[in-house]
Amino acid sequence: GFIRQVLGWREFVHHVHLATDGFRTMPTAKVPVAKKPGDGGYSRWAGKAWPDKWNRQDPDGGAKPSFLGANNPLPQAYWGEESGLNCLDQIVSQVWQEGYGHHITRLMVLANLATLLEISPRELTDWFWVAYGDAYDWVVEPNVLGMGTYAVGDLMTTKPYTSGAAYINKMGDFCQSCLFDPKKNCPITNLYWSFLNRHRESLQNNPRLRMIMATLRKRNRSLRQYDQKVFQRLSKTLKDGAQITPENLPKK
Ligand code: SF4
Repeated sequence: GFIRQVLGWREFVHHVHLATDGFRTMPTAKVPVAKKPGDGGYSRWAGKAWPDKWNRQDPDGGAKPSFLGANNPLPQAYWGEESGLNCLDQIVSQVWQEGYGHHITRLMVLANLATLLEISPRELTDWFWVAYGDAYDWVVEPNVLGMGTYAVGDLMTTKPYTSGAAYINKMGDFCQSCLFDPKKNCPITNLYWSFLNRHRESLQNNPRLRMIMATLRKRNRSLRQYDQKVFQRLSKTLKDGAQITPENLPKK
């Protein structure tokens, strides 16, 4: 049953990728296409062009859907700069050592955090393509654009795959050796609430988000403002290639 399920999922993903020409032709929306393959932010981080040993002759750089309008550059933390977020730093380090990571870490931390930070889904997809040894377009594009970042809306998933620190704490042991406390001051939880708040108009009628949107409505105004401040502080800190610490979080 498990094997059939895995094969069935791969068959479905392959079919969606083929039927949409890698999300270039979508049933409901016109999708922009990158003129040439991206480097996942490598040249911005390294200060030099990506060494394209394979001399790729791709006709274009792939579809650039972004259902929620995310378009920020991928932080240098994905290239190995310490971010101060232990979950992210440990997973990125493992990826650069082994060229591989478990499906859950790809979704739960790498794609989740990129979605919460409003990172360009295409740039994240290009990063996965560069970083992972098992990256093929027909696997990476559905997993990242379709599932991980909600870039194609509800074409493949019924809601964004996003979470705060509670879920990361439950699913792994990263929080045990982090400077932040997942139950008290983890900025990923503030990112989660600020994400829901910014996109409440697009998400509020989603039946699978009914309960969490009701909880968001009960979150008072000053807490929501604080969530947004954390989002802005963390976005800038990571964009600068610096580390976030409990001391340099905004004051409540
Ligand atoms: S406390 Fe927050 S930043 Fe630290 S490992 Fe847990 S989820 Fe990640």
